[in-house]
Order: sequence, then C-alpha cells, then structure tokens
Amino acid sequence: MIATKAYAAQDPKSPLGPFSLERRNPGPKDVQIEILYCGVCHSDIHQVRDEWGGSIFPMVPGHEIVGRVTNVGTEVTKFKVGDLAGVGCFVDSCRTCENCKSGIEQYCEEGMVGTYNGRERGTNAPTYGGYSTQIVVDEQYTLRISDKLPLAGVAPLLCAGITTYSPLRHVGVTKGHRVAVLGLGGLGHMAVKFAASFGAEVTMLSSSPSKEADAKKLGAHHFALTSDANTMKKLQNHFDFILNTVSAPHDYSTYLNLLRTNGTMIVVGVPPSPSEVPAFNLIMKRRSIIGSLIGGIKETQEMLDYCAEHNIVSDVEVIPMQQINEAYERMLKADVRYRFVIDLASLK
Ligand code: NAP
Ligand code: ZN
Ligand code: ZN
Repeated sequence: MIATKAYAAQDPKSPLGPFSLERRNPGPKDVQIEILYCGVCHSDIHQVRDEWGGSIFPMVPGHEIVGRVTNVGTEVTKFKVGDLAGVGCFVDSCRTCENCKSGIEQYCEEGMVGTYNGRERGTNAPTYGGYSTQIVVDEQYTLRISDKLPLAGVAPLLCAGITTYSPLRHVGVTKGHRVAVLGLGGLGHMAVKFAASFGAEVTMLSSSPSKEADAKKLGAHHFALTSDANTMKKLQNHFDFILNTVSAPHDYSTYLNLLRTNGTMIVVGVPPSPSEVPAFNLIMKRRSIIGSLIGGIKETQEMLDYCAEHNIVSDVEVIPMQQINEAYERMLKADVRYRFVIDLASLK
C-alpha cells in the first residue's frame, strides 16, 4: 500500500484538516500519479457539507486532478513513467452497459464510481479524491495531458471544463447562436470561453457587478446584471441557449423567459433544493430544459486536446492546501476568480 498525505472533512460541520490514507499498489492496468494540482469545485462544498445527502465520511474531495505518472502496471499502454496525466470526476464504471460502451460512462446504468465520495466496485472501499499527494487509477479512466499548457490552469478542465464543453457540443452551439451563461464562477468562466470559441454571441448573466470587465476579457460580448429589472426585461425572448451554472437556490422562471421560441436552458448547477418550473414559461414558446452531467472519457480527452490546440485554460488562483477552508468561504460568497487550484507541493 502507498501511504498518502491528504486533507479530509470528518463530518459535514467541521473544517477540512490533515488526514492520512493508503492507495492500492498499482494493478496491471493502473497508473500511479503524483498529484501536482487539484481544482476546487463547488460540488466539493456541496458534498463536504452533505447538501445532496448520502455523503461518506471521512471525505477527501477533489476531482480536477493533474499530476505526473510515477509508476505503471504491467499491462498499461497509454502512459509511461514521467508522463503528465489527469483524473476527472469518476475512476470506474461497469464498462458493459450501453452508456459505458458508447463512451458516456458518466451515465453508467450501474452508476459511475466517483473519484471521491464513491465506493470502489468489488471491494466497496470508499474512494478518496485529489486533495492528496498521490492517486492510483485504471488507465482507462485516466486522461492524457499536453505539456504545452500551464498545468495549474489545466486542472479545472477535468470538471469545470468538460461539464460546460459537453452540453455546448451536445446542443451544437455555433456561430449565429445567442448563448447566455448564468453565474460567473468556475463552470461559468469556462462556459464563456468555450461558447465564444465555438463562435456564438455570448452574454454573461451575473449577480456580481464587479465581474463585468472580467466577463468581457474571458470572451463575453455582453454583460447583464441579473438584479437589473430593466435589462432583464430587454433580454426577454432573446437567447437560443442559457447555460445555468448557479450553485445556490434561484428562480428558473425568470431565466426561462429570456429564451426565444424553441430555446433551451441547460442545467448544470445543482443547488441543494429543487427549483419550480412553471408550465406556462415552457409552453408559451416551446422552450425546454435539459440537464447535463460532466462528460465521458472520450469527450474529456477531446476537450483537453481542443484546449491544447486553442490555448484554453482556466483562470486560477493557486492556493496551498492549508487555505482550503478560506477558499470555500470565498466561493460561497461568489468571490472566486475563477477557480481555486490547490498546489499539492504544500502537502509534501
Ligand atoms: P462557483 O465557482 O462557486 O460559481 C457559482 C456561481 O454562481 C457564483 O460565482 C455566482 O456567479 C453564481 N451565484 C448566483 N447566486 C449565487 C449565490 N446566492 N451564492 C453563490 N453563488 C451564486 O461554482 P462552480 O464550481 O462553477 O459550480 C456551479 C454549480 O455546478 C454547483 O452547484 C456545482 O455542484 C455544479 N456542478 C455540476 C456539474 C455537472 O456535471 N452538472 C459539474 C460540476 C459542478 P455570479 O457572481 O456571476 O452571480
Ligand atoms: Zn466538479
Ligand atoms: Zn455502465
């Protein structure tokens, strides 16, 4: 077994603190990765605080992992020692259901195995995430990482990146579409970059006036303050797509009204409590709401390669592990610009 330093939450009410765990020795198909950077996703906060129910403690969060391969199993073909590697939101799935076979393992009919707050298939052992110095993962669930991009900015692509890339591709966002991104945090800033890169006319819908200049720098063509009733009125029946990334409870109907005929709201944010969807807001313009969960391994690799080709990374604030609790507090106040990334050198 491989002794590994980490940070964990012991229960939903306590701050995260130092923790030790053991990783399995690499099996024939496993890669062992020394973690260099791990992004901080709002899903980490929801799960640490058990806002979605069913959290497993102690919990070592973290599913935006990049690092260097230090050991490979005898049958590994995709990696060699010294390569960069990434791990996203899941580390296993059934591999045999229709969804797994068609490369959308995130929708595995038996349930994907989360990188943390999950249970390993077979052993039922809890999984521990990237707020740690090492991880061992089957190569089939490990991503290749280009050495062209700054590594700290690549880490958030493994969740914030793929979670926004995948639905924008799925609905076919392209030139001529008006796309709104609701909520400028980790997911939101990646959504702006991708939607602009795909050629759409992008509007940032934000509750934070202080983010206007940044939104434009990220690639948004317009910025609208959601608290400004006049602006919101002007934007009625305006957008083809709204990508909703908001983490806190909010009213869907206000934003549904901003969709034009046949427009679609794509829900990726997961507030702890349900939101009402009034039938009239849908039927009067044949609008729809769809949801989307991260992305499969194949599409995650495609997204990483796209980012390497187009020079796209996340805008990050790098922090030592010891500042994680303050980072959570700032994220809860919508004060993140635009992803915290932990430098795991701080744990060594
Ligand atoms: P984040 O960085 O904390 O950003 C959330 C943003 O929501 C804030 O920056 C803020 O933007 C906006 N917001 C509006 N009202 C808010 C309020 N009352 N309190 C706090 N923020 C408010 O979060 P994230 O990491 O991007 O994650 C966003 C959501 O997506 C979370 O619920 C997360 O669990 C979920 N998620 C889903 C998937 C998936 O597969 N579907 C994957 C990853 C994450 P403004 O200041 O611009 O208003
Ligand atoms: Zn995430
Ligand atoms: Zn499956």
